Amino acid sequence: MRRYKKGLALVMTTAMLLSLAACGGKKEEPAATTTEEVTEETSEEKTEDVADASDEIQPGVNLIKGGDFSDGVGTFGTYTTNGGSVKLDVNDDGELQIDIANIGTVEHGVQVFYDGFAMQEGGVYQLDFDAHSTIDRDIAWRIQLNGGDYHAYATETVSLTGEPQHYSMEFTMEEGSDPAPRFCFNLGYVESMQEAGVDAASVEAHSIMIDNLSLVLNDGSNMQEVEALAEAPKIKVNQVGYRKNDTKKAVFTNLADDDTTFTVVDAASGETAFEGTLSEPSEYKAGQEMDSTGDFSELNKEGTYKIVTGKGEESGEFKIGDNVYEDTYKSIVKMMYLQRCGMELTSDEAGDFAHPACHTGEATIYGTDKKIDVSGGWHDAGDYGRYVVAGAKAAADLVLAYEKFGEKDLVDEAKYELDWMLKMQDQTSGGVYHKVTCASFPGEVMPQEETEELIVTPISNAATGDFAAVMALAGRVCDDNKYLDAAKKAWDYLEQHKGDRGFKNPDEISTGEYPDKYDRDEYFWAASELYKTTGDDKYKTAMAEYIDDERNLEGMGWSSVGMYGCYAALTNDKLLTDSSNLRKTIQDYFIGKANESVETSEKNPYGVDFTNSFYWGSNMGVSNSGMVLLMANEIAPDEKYVKCAKGQLDYLLGLNATGYCFVTGQGYLSPQNPHHRPSQATGKCMPGMLVGGPNSNLEDPYAKAVLADVAPAKCYIDNVQSYSCNEITIYWNSPLIYLMAALQDE
Ligand SMILES: [Zn+2]
Repeated sequence: MRRYKKGLALVMTTAMLLSLAACGGKKEEPAATTTEEVTEETSEEKTEDVADASDEIQPGVNLIKGGDFSDGVGTFGTYTTNGGSVKLDVNDDGELQIDIANIGTVEHGVQVFYDGFAMQEGGVYQLDFDAHSTIDRDIAWRIQLNGGDYHAYATETVSLTGEPQHYSMEFTMEEGSDPAPRFCFNLGYVESMQEAGVDAASVEAHSIMIDNLSLVLNDGSNMQEVEALAEAPKIKVNQVGYRKNDTKKAVFTNLADDDTTFTVVDAASGETAFEGTLSEPSEYKAGQEMDSTGDFSELNKEGTYKIVTGKGEESGEFKIGDNVYEDTYKSIVKMMYLQRCGMELTSDEAGDFAHPACHTGEATIYGTDKKIDVSGGWHDAGDYGRYVVAGAKAAADLVLAYEKFGEKDLVDEAKYELDWMLKMQDQTSGGVYHKVTCASFPGEVMPQEETEELIVTPISNAATGDFAAVMALAGRVCDDNKYLDAAKKAWDYLEQHKGDRGFKNPDEISTGEYPDKYDRDEYFWAASELYKTTGDDKYKTAMAEYIDDERNLEGMGWSSVGMYGCYAALTNDKLLTDSSNLRKTIQDYFIGKANESVETSEKNPYGVDFTNSFYWGSNMGVSNSGMVLLMANEIAPDEKYVKCAKGQLDYLLGLNATGYCFVTGQGYLSPQNPHHRPSQATGKCMPGMLVGGPNSNLEDPYAKAVLADVAPAKCYIDNVQSYSCNEITIYWNSPLIYLMAALQDE
């Protein structure tokens, strides 16, 4: 092939490749966070453009773009695990040169991959490539599911020598069509080497050269089309149900022009319980659809119902009654328990998700030989990492819910996380380590099977600030000095380290980064909680330092946390008669945000606080809006806040453009295939998990392949591979728990 002029052409970092390859452990923040943070996070997650899988499925066309490497490495990427080490380049002969320093201890210890094509059921394909190696060895090529159990649709092991050879194989895609599979070379300790008794450690550093790689469709005559995204249901309701005295609304999408009425029918008897007329249809731009609404708030007789339109469109069944949320609430709280790390979950308690104590070994502090015990806490998400900034948000939501609504089980659950967080504090300095994970994401295994070395990453101001805040909150609510003492110690660290901002993953670590360069909102939250708990004026003085910049007051995520600080200030009796500008500035900001939320929600047919685009973890944004609205009602009571908060819940439980109830195991259409390792490993979907929801930024290969032309509000796919739509986290469940605890309390 043509000589390639430049050196290393790989643009993606190892971290990006790994996040692409294994898991999106790192979730995004609301758009309301600082621009700087969003840009940073987005650029970290972005991979090179993945080719559009929808075009060029004609026979004879190479599905692997750039397979002759005349334009460099292109979109080929690498994945390494279990000690594997690799570098990609195109050499002077125009071949892809793969320099392998270490093959690792598993077949995929070193992997070179290509995404961005589709495989269609019944298609007959042919793979061709030329290859040679500086040592004699076996390699395996695979076309595989890019997620879940990563099983192969087609694979073959071939032996390489110093002589360039041509390899070719024809095969039929026997399984269902896959719009986003992965082609890869497994270049680690491949099975045939294991069987032959080759010692992995004795395999010397070597180079493998690949060229003229092509995958073509030979025969499409028996081929099935790639299935299009299923159309959303025409009638959307809160699938869990409505309480007797709540507003009850359904949304009707793209009905026939003459379909203008609806009835609510008793599901058992078939009798009509309510008759209504639909509103005039209007365009919902983010959904690219025409929507009408039907209000049946008057119907308050307990029962199980469905909705039928004049022309016969039907919804699924839902309930009306005072206790309709009880099961859902229990299930989302139980999920936190099921995410517990470091203790045995018995089958009595955890059913299919029982496991022995996991991650109990001591962890090494990064860059040292020092080992510490950091067992406990919740697994963060679909992976098994434990991250302080994420855990602080989740624990805070539960403790705040307990503080306000008195649900005792919430504070007991939160203490499991808080007690782990105490172990993450450096006893000498008071600073708090950012996270503890293995070097990379695990495969699709139960937690006790992730047995690689645990690494504690360096102290960050963001983690220390969040820690100080949530420990001060716990110190007040739990009446336990150990929390408040830890909070004060963390505050002293923060005072001595102003300006030491940011956290970046060390090079060798590719698990969720949760980067946060801006720490002044964490300082504000910590000062505000410490002032509320201790009454010590030094914290009030500190608070006043931060109110000049709205960035310090905004957000309820893992990155921007200012609104927690606002809430602590506005519910602090000592500030009720504050004559300075402190309380007024904070209250104007907080109530202003709540009012904006109401205005935006009222303009949306689904009653949700979103406009035209949806970000990674948009369902956390919806839940957080619900929390803020309820808090606003506490500070400046107004029924509109409560009504709007309930609307956010309706959205999450099915009244949205996708028609999904976003909590697993609830409603009649809910996610079955979450990106969540225990669910993947057991083949069962853990109940009670809130998935990320619509994300119009398309931030994983599967989403790019199947959602490219989909309206922003419907950019959601229930597929295990789509970690940017369908992962779950503790801090997406936690604000929903707050919201539902409030309604339980009414
Ligand atoms: Zn664990």
